[in-house]
Amino acid sequence: MATHDEPAVTEAVALPERLLLGSGPSPVPRRVLRALARPTIGHLDPAFGVLMEDMMGRLRRVMVTENRATLAISGTGSAGMETMVVNFVAPGDRVVCGVNGLFGERMADALTRQGATVERVEGEWGRAIATERLTAALDDRTAALFVVHGETSTGVCQPLDGLADACRERDALFLVDCVTSLGGQPLELDAAGVDVAFSGSQKCLNCPPGLAPFTLGERARDRLLSRREPCRSWYFDLRAILAYWREDAPGAPPRAYHHTAPINMIYALHESLGIVLDEGLPERWERHRRAHEALRAALEPLGLTRLAPPGEELSSLLAVVVPPHIDEAAARRQLLLDHGIEISGGLGPLAGRVWRIGVMGIGAAHEPQQRLLGALAEIFGVDPTDSLARLDDAWS
Ligand SMILES: *Cc1c(COP(=O)(O)O)cnc(C)c1O
Repeated sequence: MATHDEPAVTEAVALPERLLLGSGPSPVPRRVLRALARPTIGHLDPAFGVLMEDMMGRLRRVMVTENRATLAISGTGSAGMETMVVNFVAPGDRVVCGVNGLFGERMADALTRQGATVERVEGEWGRAIATERLTAALDDRTAALFVVHGETSTGVCQPLDGLADACRERDALFLVDCVTSLGGQPLELDAAGVDVAFSGSQKCLNCPPGLAPFTLGERARDRLLSRREPCRSWYFDLRAILAYWREDAPGAPPRAYHHTAPINMIYALHESLGIVLDEGLPERWERHRRAHEALRAALEPLGLTRLAPPGEELSSLLAVVVPPHIDEAAARRQLLLDHGIEISGGLGPLAGRVWRIGVMGIGAAHEPQQRLLGALAEIFGVDPTDSLARLDDAWS
């Protein structure tokens, strides 16, 4: 048995302190780390069942949905994507997929592997896709439409307005990736008419990576229950997972073992959702918007300009174009090793051309941004005064 006079943590391998201002993971508040360190109990313990239900309630409020089936898939955001694909898309289904960045591209790949006929609606990396182009691609054979709400590879927010109605007219499901938008960008899943959505714990929710918040509405549940063939994935079979989470339906049967939930991660997500709700969603969305604008304005004197045009930006991720005279990889390495600050480089066609800076949860604040600007000015060998004044201005 462990005793309390043992050292708190073994430190055989040293870990540096980092300020995480990249595309994820985001900084984890001490409150969440403390929750993670609470004693592990059994996953079928009634006390854990109470915590699961409370977590589901909090998640419904953060996702702004009344869906009873609102839970966390065991795995990172990609596990949420996998769950969506294997349960709601059957081989031979026609699926319309918006592709204007890496995460749309990944979804198109996952759909193809599932045997779907993928109708790609392509957009430029760094721009949103016009709603009419997405709706025009739907037809009566379309099983589903998928879009990425917050494209983390480009810092673009895809508007959801008008998509749900077009899906309903065609009896297609409306599927959304809200990994980077949940908790940082205005999003109300029921109001947007989303049928199935997945997210991730380590972006705007400030929880460590390892859980994928997930929700499905009644239309999606009908589709799930009417499937003739069982889901080909055993682990991500939503029927079994729903029986495990038991939803919170009155009179539902007792929770049935499927797999062991990552218990301490559920503690952590429960706590981080509590922090989101303590702040309030509208207040939190507004803080992210403000933090994004403040940083955007302060980076301009350093020659870093936003990739997304005004009105298409994602609050929680600021992608900026790096001037050609700067060796972006070397500067990023210096930022990490000399200043302890992580930001992310570009992906795909944007590799070597952009930086992606996270504006996520507690990272969406004056102080961490000040540290980043000071460090960047030092690396560039320029005077930070103008940048810092712009930042202070935007926050005052
Ligand atoms: C991070 C991310 C994912 C994948 O999540 P992982 O936790 O890395 O598996 C999917 N979609 C978007 C938009 C993301 O930002």
